[in-house]
Amino acid sequence: MSTLQQNYSEVLERIRRAAEASGRRAESIRLLAVSKTFPAEAIRELYDAGVRLFGESRAPELAEKAAALPADIEWHFIGRLQANKVRKVVQIARMIHSVDTLPLLERIDRIAGEEGRRPEILLEVNVSGEATKAGTAPSALERLAEEAAGCRNLVFCGLMTMAPADATETEIAAVFETLRRCRDALAGRLQIALPVLSMGMSGDFEIAVRHGSTLVRVGSSIFGGR
Ligand SMILES: *Cc1c(COP(=O)(O)O)cnc(C)c1O
Repeated sequence: MSTLQQNYSEVLERIRRAAEASGRRAESIRLLAVSKTFPAEAIRELYDAGVRLFGESRAPELAEKAAALPADIEWHFIGRLQANKVRKVVQIARMIHSVDTLPLLERIDRIAGEEGRRPEILLEVNVSGEATKAGTAPSALERLAEEAAGCRNLVFCGLMTMAPADATETEIAAVFETLRRCRDALAGRLQIALPVLSMGMSGDFEIAVRHGSTLVRVGSSIFGGR
């Protein structure tokens, strides 16, 4: 086994243990390998071990890697999405985690229609309220979610957040718990299933699993430091 494959297995094992400790089934949590800044060969190494789920945060980098790698990779886009990059991302990505404004949502829906695609989308929520963070304010979430639920060319699947980097475990847990409550409230109010909670990164994915994450986004614990 290569080092990358071993790192990946270790992360899977940590997810399994965190799931078990909180009475969840490990199969209910997917591991997104965040390959941003790492070359296609690194992705290839994991691909050869059966990994198919990769996340990128820049559109040109996503396009370049997608062109160089097998077509059965499931790409997720997790970064800030500029208007002029929407078409490229829609052509490639199965899921976009970082939808946080009405104009962006409407643009993705329109372009997906033009491209004959139907991407899954998550609404990114800035739970902690940090000024530098992407994501919609919780107060604007309901309006955005209503709009997302009405879009014809995308599938609104759930919510995404990032915990503050320098927070205590208690603070991080509170952020994840808040996202889960937002999801539960929205699913009830809009009467739709919102099965996906994208939360947890290298530093906090076990906390996220304890609070209901169904999709953890792990980069450096698999690929190394950036
Ligand atoms: C880079 C990135 C990650 C992965 O971060 P690590 O700390 O390297 O695991 C997860 N989510 C988003 C949105 C990212 O940009």
